[in-house]
Amino acid sequence: MESLTRIASFSVDHDYIVPGIYVSRIDGDITTYDLRTRKPNNDSDDYMDNLTMHSVEHMFATYVRNSSIKDNVIYFGPMGCQTGFYLLVRDANDDVVFDTVVDTLKKIIAHDGEIFGKVRKECGNYKNLDIEAAKTEAKKYLDALLSSKIRFKYPER
Ligand SMILES: [Zn+2]
Repeated sequence: MESLTRIASFSVDHDYIVPGIYVSRIDGDITTYDLRTRKPNNDSDDYMDNLTMHSVEHMFATYVRNSSIKDNVIYFGPMGCQTGFYLLVRDANDDVVFDTVVDTLKKIIAHDGEIFGKVRKECGNYKNLDIEAAKTEAKKYLDALLSSKIRFKYPER
């Protein structure tokens, strides 16, 4: 069997990760941020459910693509391990991205009305969306983000 190269994110010891924002990788002018909302492999099996991830995805993607960095947002979406989201930004400045993430979370929390894109034509599973689930997760993550001392760089083991 041919040997496969281990991808960079698998080289981080996930037992040392706490909720926060981290630079996962830089490819040319594109920076991949891990917006880690939950502690990986936590003892209480505290993971985001699909409804939460999907709802945050709709809200965060829409607001961040209307932010001051909108032209440089390449992608936003959930991690399959249910412990966070990926945010890909071109020509990123860490401090600007941090402020944008905080601002985006605040907009989700203050959002008045229905979830963006909650219509059959615009989504692959439009019934699986709930604004309160998005707000609850945004609040929780905002608190974690603002109280976290480690920023951008994954903790050393
Ligand atoms: Zn959707």
